[in-house]
Amino acid sequence: MKMIFLGAPGAGKGTQAEIVSAKLGIPAISTGAIIREAIKAGTETGLAAKKFTDAGALVPDEVVIGIIKERLAKADCAKGFILDGFPRTVPQAEALDKMGVKMDLVLSLEVADEAIVERMSGRRVCDKCGASYHVAFNPSEDGVNCDKCKTPLSIRRDDAPEVVKSRLNVYHETTEPLKDFYAEKGILKLVQGCEKVEDTTKSTLAALNVSEE
Ligand code: AMP
Repeated sequence: MKMIFLGAPGAGKGTQAEIVSAKLGIPAISTGAIIREAIKAGTETGLAAKKFTDAGALVPDEVVIGIIKERLAKADCAKGFILDGFPRTVPQAEALDKMGVKMDLVLSLEVADEAIVERMSGRRVCDKCGASYHVAFNPSEDGVNCDKCKTPLSIRRDDAPEVVKSRLNVYHETTEPLKDFYAEKGILKLVQGCEKVEDTTKSTLAALNVSEE
């Protein structure tokens, strides 16, 4: 099964993608996480991407398309995958088509902008393994360290309120048109993002026809 999880930044794509990935045994691929790793490692791609991510802008299409091409060529993608945060523009979606990657399903997580701004202010992430938490809605066990690797959690630079607003504008102007792009292909499903992660997971699994067991 090849899936795309669409949605505004902070809608919960990453969290749901990780849950579905563990359930189905297929990788969840986050271009945002790959870019953050590249920035941390100081690679050429990371250096090229940093000024865009810091400003809440999109990294140029050719850079992310290159990243995704390389990632999808890896052996663990053979049985399927979940794309989280890619494509974010129509040219990126067209690039997937050109690569011959035929998606089975595109799931759009719908969350109102006001809820997003509130959520982002409480988001905490693990810089080491990429896990994501929320101080109120999805806290780590001790509230300070990552449950998986015990690294102290941090706040993403691009979760600052002014940056969140520009990321939301970018989402509405550039990424949301992808809903029409995939609706025309007949593979778009909308899922209402809820406050509680478990509630969103229920709706997500139902949309994917995957049992909760
Ligand atoms: P995310 O973790 O998905 O919110 O991504 C964080 C940041 O990485 C975004 O604000 C963009 O600057 C960049 N990024 C991630 N995915 C893409 C993409 N598909 N196209 C362009 N920029 C991206």
